[in-house]
Amino acid sequence: MSRILVIGAGIVGLCCANALRAEGREVMVLDRDPAGDKCSFGNAAGIGVTEIIPASVPGLAWKVPGWLRDPLGPLSLRPAYLPKLAPWLLRFLRHGTWSEVERIAAALATLSGRTYKDLLPLLDEIGLGGDLRPVGALWAYETAAGFAADARFRAIRRQHGLVCEEISGAEARALEPALGEAVRHAMFTPQWSHVADPRRIVDRLRRHVEQRGVTVARGEATAIFGNELLLADGRRLDFCHLVVAGGAWSGRLAGSLGDRVLIESERGYNTTLPTPGVTLSHEVIFAERAFVATPIDAGLRIGGAAEFAGLDAPPNYARSDALAQLATRYLPGLNTAGGTRWMGHRPTTADSLPVIGTSPRRPDVVYAFGHGHTGLTFGPTTGRLVAELVAGRPTSVDVAPFSIARFQ
Ligand SMILES: Cc1cc2nc3c(=O)[nH]c(=O)nc-3n(C[C@H](O)[C@H](O)[C@H](O)COP(=O)(O)OP(=O)(O)OC[C@H]3O[C@@H](n4cnc5c(N)ncnc54)[C@H](O)[C@@H]3O)c2cc1C
Repeated sequence: MSRILVIGAGIVGLCCANALRAEGREVMVLDRDPAGDKCSFGNAAGIGVTEIIPASVPGLAWKVPGWLRDPLGPLSLRPAYLPKLAPWLLRFLRHGTWSEVERIAAALATLSGRTYKDLLPLLDEIGLGGDLRPVGALWAYETAAGFAADARFRAIRRQHGLVCEEISGAEARALEPALGEAVRHAMFTPQWSHVADPRRIVDRLRRHVEQRGVTVARGEATAIFGNELLLADGRRLDFCHLVVAGGAWSGRLAGSLGDRVLIESERGYNTTLPTPGVTLSHEVIFAERAFVATPIDAGLRIGGAAEFAGLDAPPNYARSDALAQLATRYLPGLNTAGGTRWMGHRPTTADSLPVIGTSPRRPDVVYAFGHGHTGLTFGPTTGRLVAELVAGRPTSVDVAPFSIARFQ
């Protein structure tokens, strides 16, 4: 059997399928609902090349109690879920040292450095080159203390060639007149971009791979036995290589091979406002409150939040409403009426690094998941790396830091 099976028709799985097909391989993508809603559809549309700072940083533990006291704040843990979350959480906290931040940032910078080299040709290939808005992003701060606290993150980004221009609140308003007086300090990151509609990219890419001869099939993978994948409906599919790109669900499949991984669903929310009443031309990141506003084709998308409640708990859309409400503090003219609410499962590892590489137990199984906040950004580069791994070629960036072996 010469077929490569890719599990997951999100942005990461489709980028892998496309890169493998470009090398002439026979490829089948399997998803429990190939065209259905997924994290890759409703995200904040940012090409966040400056997002190399991990989530676990020194000092975070001090902020957590305050965040948790606010029921609709940036972080929420459902108490009943804590025992399940504990191993991930303990490991997450262990990574919150400066040496770990610098190590993780250096690894993510290797992906960031390739982002446009892999993203731009892909967008052109699927006819959506014009969907990229290469205008930079603005990071807005309310307090001098909050701006000063991020100084070391700016320094780390600069070490990796990422431009961080420090500007005043007034200069930020000159760039984005809709911002109110609450914004007193800002950072402009010119290398950041956003796209007009992440869902359009995924839908177009899925049709594109099908047109190139990739089979996209419906089915739920439950376990891997030998060279066969077992599906929930009892079918068995054989493969020569298997790519696990199942987003936040990938840990279950890796576990069926005995590969341990600390991955959680970091549930994120947004509201897309069709008639926001204000105009933004850049993505704006409200750094102290951990949410963003992105101008996309469907309107203004206000997104953020990190909720740890597992893959099965129902969404709490009050979080979507709370984000839209919070945005009025910074965008005084914002019209929050008529918004569409959404929740997605970010596939988030304890160290904020994706899992990209072959299984230590099975050289024919390749992992491509755990992209957390940056799956849209790093998906095309992940596809390239997976194709290189399957072909047995040296990879364009060192994948050692992304190996699943770090969790064993
Ligand atoms: C609020 C929010 C904002 C975000 N903003 C950004 C942003 O601005 N920029 C950015 O780069 N990223 C952003 N992200 C993150 C980004 O959306 C994700 O990292 C990315 O979508 C992950 O893609 P994926 O293909 O790995 O997973 P998914 O999109 O979740 O796709 C995984 C697919 O695998 C399928 N699957 C899983 N297990 C199985 C199985 N056993 N059998 C069959 N099918 C299976 C699922 O059905 C699903 O379709 C954001 C996320 C959220 C929630």
